[in-house]
Amino acid sequence: MSRLVLTDRRARNAGLLTCARCGCSITAERKKGRYTYYRCTGFHGSCGNAYIREERLSLLLGDVVQRVQIPAEIAEWISERLRDDDQMAEQARQKATAQLTKRRNEIRTKLDRGYEDYLDAKISEAFWSRKSGEWESELVTIEADLGRQAQPISASQMKGEKILELAKQAGFLYKSQSTAEQRRLLDTVLSNCTYDRGTLCPTYNMPFDLLSQGNETGRMAGPTGLEPATSGVTGRRSNQLNYSPAWANLKVKSLK
Ligand SMILES: [Zn+2]
Repeated sequence: MSRLVLTDRRARNAGLLTCARCGCSITAERKKGRYTYYRCTGFHGSCGNAYIREERLSLLLGDVVQRVQIPAEIAEWISERLRDDDQMAEQARQKATAQLTKRRNEIRTKLDRGYEDYLDAKISEAFWSRKSGEWESELVTIEADLGRQAQPISASQMKGEKILELAKQAGFLYKSQSTAEQRRLLDTVLSNCTYDRGTLCPTYNMPFDLLSQGNETGRMAGPTGLEPATSGVTGRRSNQLNYSPAWANLKVKSLK
């Protein structure tokens, strides 16, 4: 193994892990000129945590990423729910916009008529000034509401789709990518990761926490649960979704 690769890997792991025992960072150290070990910096004194070899750490990190990989049909199913959800939100947005626009036109008409009535002396100046004040302030509120409704609902869907694309092949991506890309993937998926004597304890970013929980529950469900993710899935196995309550509870909104 070339020195370059080792340096590369050390860069990938820099600042990634903290010691589960004392909270200090875990850093790389070269041993006997051949092996790279990771150990707690021990700034708070000896904490009893153990060294871990570079190769072993790579495997464990790969496993951490693998845990958020979801089967293609699950990704497709979540994706459909995202689309349904966004479609409903978009319909609600259009309805709200139409109602607000209608109300704005009504008030504008009232203002026009009221002003004419005032000019024709059909209403007093005091009445006109009170009513026009009310209408003007309602118009301000409506304009603000319309501004908030102006963005079509689609950006959120893009983000969800991207997450699902990543989640479908997370394990494969980790194994096949450069160390720089591996680090990017780890940073995307993990908010924190601690190490304690041979064990990594990851804290996943949203929504990868839900995906890993879904996999966990799926595995615990036994043979009727989800099959592990396969690459190059052929055909649909959507019937399995009936047996995966963990996914049914997945909050689609959290993917946005
Ligand atoms: Zn420590």
